Amino acid sequence: MRLVRVAVPVPALDSLTYSVPDEFPMPPIGARVLVPLGSRVMTGCVVDSEPWSVVRSSSLEVPTSIGMAAEHAAGDSASSARRDTDHEPRPPALVAGRSSATSSGEVSPKRARNERAKAETTADIKQVIDILDSTPFLPADVVKLTAWASEYYAAGVGEAMAAAMPPRAWIESERYAQITDVGHARMLTERGNRRDILESLVDDKPVRVEALGTRKGSHAVLAGLERDGLIALTKPLKGAAAAFRTVRVAALTAQGYEIAGRDAADESTIRLGTKQREALALLMGAPEGLETSELFERGIGGPTLSRLSTVGLVSLSRRRVDRDPFEQASQPVPPRPPVELTSEQAAAFERLGGLAASQQFHAALLHGVTGSGKTEIYLRLADAVRQQGRSVLLLVPEIALTPSVAGIFRAAFGERVAIQHSGLSDGERYDQWHRIRRGDVDVVVGTRSAVFAPLRSLGLIVVDEEHDGSYKQEETPRYNGRDVAVMRARQAGALVVLGSATPSMESYQNALSSRYTLVTLEKRVLDRPLADVRIVDMREEYATAGPDVILSGALCDALAERLQRREQAIVLLNRRGYASSVFCRQCAATVECPNCSVSLTVHRAARRARCHYCNYSMALPKACLNCAGPFLEQLGFGTERVEAEIVARFPEARVARVDRDTVRKRGAIAGLLSRFAAGELDILVGTQMIAKGHDFPRVSLVGVISADVGLGLADFRAAERTFQLLTQVAGRAGRGEIRGQAIVQTLYPDHYSIRHACKQDYVAFFNDEANFRRAMHYPPSVALVNVVVKGRSLAAAMQDAGGIVQALRSRKDSYRVLGPATAPLSRIKGEHRAQLFLKGTHRTAMREALVAVLEERPELRRRTIVDIDPMSVL
Ligand code: ADP
Ligand code: ZN
Repeated sequence: MRLVRVAVPVPALDSLTYSVPDEFPMPPIGARVLVPLGSRVMTGCVVDSEPWSVVRSSSLEVPTSIGMAAEHAAGDSASSARRDTDHEPRPPALVAGRSSATSSGEVSPKRARNERAKAETTADIKQVIDILDSTPFLPADVVKLTAWASEYYAAGVGEAMAAAMPPRAWIESERYAQITDVGHARMLTERGNRRDILESLVDDKPVRVEALGTRKGSHAVLAGLERDGLIALTKPLKGAAAAFRTVRVAALTAQGYEIAGRDAADESTIRLGTKQREALALLMGAPEGLETSELFERGIGGPTLSRLSTVGLVSLSRRRVDRDPFEQASQPVPPRPPVELTSEQAAAFERLGGLAASQQFHAALLHGVTGSGKTEIYLRLADAVRQQGRSVLLLVPEIALTPSVAGIFRAAFGERVAIQHSGLSDGERYDQWHRIRRGDVDVVVGTRSAVFAPLRSLGLIVVDEEHDGSYKQEETPRYNGRDVAVMRARQAGALVVLGSATPSMESYQNALSSRYTLVTLEKRVLDRPLADVRIVDMREEYATAGPDVILSGALCDALAERLQRREQAIVLLNRRGYASSVFCRQCAATVECPNCSVSLTVHRAARRARCHYCNYSMALPKACLNCAGPFLEQLGFGTERVEAEIVARFPEARVARVDRDTVRKRGAIAGLLSRFAAGELDILVGTQMIAKGHDFPRVSLVGVISADVGLGLADFRAAERTFQLLTQVAGRAGRGEIRGQAIVQTLYPDHYSIRHACKQDYVAFFNDEANFRRAMHYPPSVALVNVVVKGRSLAAAMQDAGGIVQALRSRKDSYRVLGPATAPLSRIKGEHRAQLFLKGTHRTAMREALVAVLEERPELRRRTIVDIDPMSVL
C-alpha cells in the first residue's frame, strides 16, 4: 500500500494517513488531494509520502535567532545543549487523536513514524479520492515552514498550512455520479451497497457524490462501481482554472489574414459586410488579438464577431488576465529622485549587502531612528539580491502602511513586484499568489501571511517595523510573522533584516547577545533634527482650565500656528469613539456589553453605544438601564470627540479622522492619506493607524492626547507599546524641510516610557524595561506561554484551568506554572475566561507538556487558547 500523510484544514488536527489507489500516480509533497474525513470530503495537502522523509524534524535545525532571549538568559553550556532541542518540532502526528507523537521518546522520530505507519496498514486506512495537482501546489519549502509553525505554535498542521494557501485553494468537492448503460443492464445482478447506489441513480440524473457517500457510507464502493464501468464520476472542479479572471479575445485565423489582405473589390469567394471588413482591418493590426470588449467599444458587436468566427476568419478564445491591485491604487507614486546615501546609510548598506552576498543565513537588526532612511536601504538591498538572481520578501505591518511602501517598491521594480495584504479582494490575492507561484515575480511586499508566499530561491527577507503587533496573528495558528520570517530565512539560507526605530525587547536582546547583527542609524537623513518634544502635564492643565479640557492650551496654540503657516498637523489618541462609557450619576451603573466584561463606547455620529470586542451595539440610552434615572453622563473620550473639539475650535481647518470607524470601507484609508499627502487636509486626527511609517514632509506638529491610555492595561507589554507608539508618532513630525515639534499630553509625565519616548532614547528605555521584565520574569528574560480557558461560567472556566495547572505541576519540569486566575477581560463574546501562564527558559518542554495535558482532555482542548510568545495577555 502506498501511503501519504495529508494535512486538512481542521482546527488542532494533525496530519492524517491515507493510501493512494493503484490507478493514481503518487502525488508529490505540496499537492492537493481530496480525502474522506468522517462523512465529509475535504481538500487536503500532502505533507509527506513514503518513504517518509521531507517534513522531518532533523532537517529543521535550531534557528540561532528565532525567539529569543530565553536561551541567552540561561546562558550556561547545559542550557545551550538543551537549546538544540528547542524549536525543534515533534514529528508531525500521523492520525487524529493519537497522542503518542507528543512524547519525544527514545525512538528516533523517523523510526517511530515508520513503525506507526506499519501498524496502521493493518488498520482502516482510507483512500485518497482524487489528486488535484500533479506538481506541488505549495512548494516543498513552504510545506516545511508551515509544518514548523504548526509545531512551534502548537496548532494543527492543516490550520497552519491554510495560512499559506491562497483563496479558493481548498476546493469543495463537486463530484457527481451518473449511472451508465452498463450500470442499468447489470443493476439487478448487484448486491448490497453497490445495488443501493445504482438504484438511487436509476432515473439517470447526476447525483452529488457527497449525498451518496454519506448515505451509503463508502467512497471505495463508488470507486469500484466506476472501475467496473457501472457509473461515471465527473471530476471535481480543478478549482484553479475556474478562479482566474479571463477575457474573450478575438484574433484573425490564417484564412482571415488572407481575406483581410485582399481588396474589398476582390471578394470572389466571401462577401463581407462593412462592419465585418472593419473588424478584420482592426484585427490585422493586432497579431496577439484584441479583447472583445475593446472591439465592442469600437462599434464591432458580438453578432459580427460570431459570424466571422462561424466562417472561420476569426478565432475567439479566452485569455487569462491578472487582477492588478495597483489598478485602483488611488495615488500614482511619483518616481523617486535618486538619492545619494548618507555616510551612515552607506555603512549600513555595505554591512548588510555583505551578509546578503554570502548567501548564507544571517539575521540582522537595523535599528534606525525615524526618518533615518531605512526604506532606501531596503530598496538597495533588494536590488542587489535580485541582481544575484534571488528573490526578495518585504513584510510590512497591516493595512495603513502597505500601499505606500508597496508603491515605492513598485516604482522601483515595476512588474516584478506582487503585493499581498488583507485589503485585497479574494480575486486579487488569488492572482497575486499565482503570479508568485509561476515565478513571474521576484519581489513580494506583503503583510503577515505573505511570509508564506511561494517565492523561489529567496535571498532576502525584510521585516519593516518588526516590533509591530500586527505581525502576530491573534487567532489560530497564533504565529508571529516576524519569527516565522527568521525561520524561513534560516531554511532558505537567506538574509533577514528586522528594521525598526523602536525594536521589540526580544529583537534588541537578540542583537545584544550577538544572535543578530546590530546595524544602527543614529541620525536622520540630511541632518534633519528629530522633533523636539514637549510634555504637557494634564494635572496642571486640569487645575487651571477645569476637568473637562481635552486640548491643552499649548496644543491649541501650536495648532493655530500651523494653520496660519499652512503647515500640517497630526493629532493622535489611541482610543476610538466619542466617549468611553455611559455612567449613571444616580446609581453609579455603567452601560455594559451584555456579552463582554467591558463598558460600551459611545459613537455619537452613529448615535449608538458599541462594544469594541464583539461589535454589539444599541441605541444610546436616554435613561439609566438600571435605575431608569435620567442622569446619564458620558465619561472619557476618544478620537471622535477630539475631532469634534478641533472642528469647534478651528472651524476653518480641514480636518479628517482616521480610525477603524472611518476606514472600514476598502480603500478609504488610502484615500484619506493621499488627500492629506496632497495638502487637501490640514489636520489628521486618528488612532495608532496614523502613527506608523508614513512620510508626510509638510507635517510639522504632532499632538498626542492622553499619551498614557495604554499604560493602565494589565499587560506586561504596556510600557513597551506606549514607548513605541509615542516614539513613532513623534517621528512623523519634521520629516521634510520644516522643523518638527511634538506635544505630549499626559497624567503621568514621570513614567519612564513617556520620559524616554520624549527624548527618543531607545537604549535608555530598553535598559529600564529589561530590568522590569527580569524582575517580573517576563519575556525576553523567560519564554512565556499564555493559556486561556473559556467556559460557560467563570467558576467552570476556573475549575478547568485549575485542572490543567495541577496536571502541569505534577509533571515536574523546568518551567513554572502560574494561575489559574480570572483573565483581565473576564468575558468576551459571552464566554468566561480563566487564564494561566507557563514561564521558563525551555520552550519545547513547556509546549510539549501543555499539548500532552490537553490531548488527554479533548473536550477542553477545543475551549482552550494556547498562545506561545504572546503579544498580548489580556
Ligand atoms: P525611515 O523609514 O527610516 O523612518 P524613510 O526611509 O521613510 O525613513 O526616509 C525618510 C525620508 O528621507 C524619505 O522621504 C526618503 O525619501 C528620504 N531619504 C532617504 N534617504 C535619503 C538620502 N540619502 N538623501 C536624501 N533623502 C533621503
Ligand atoms: Zn461585547
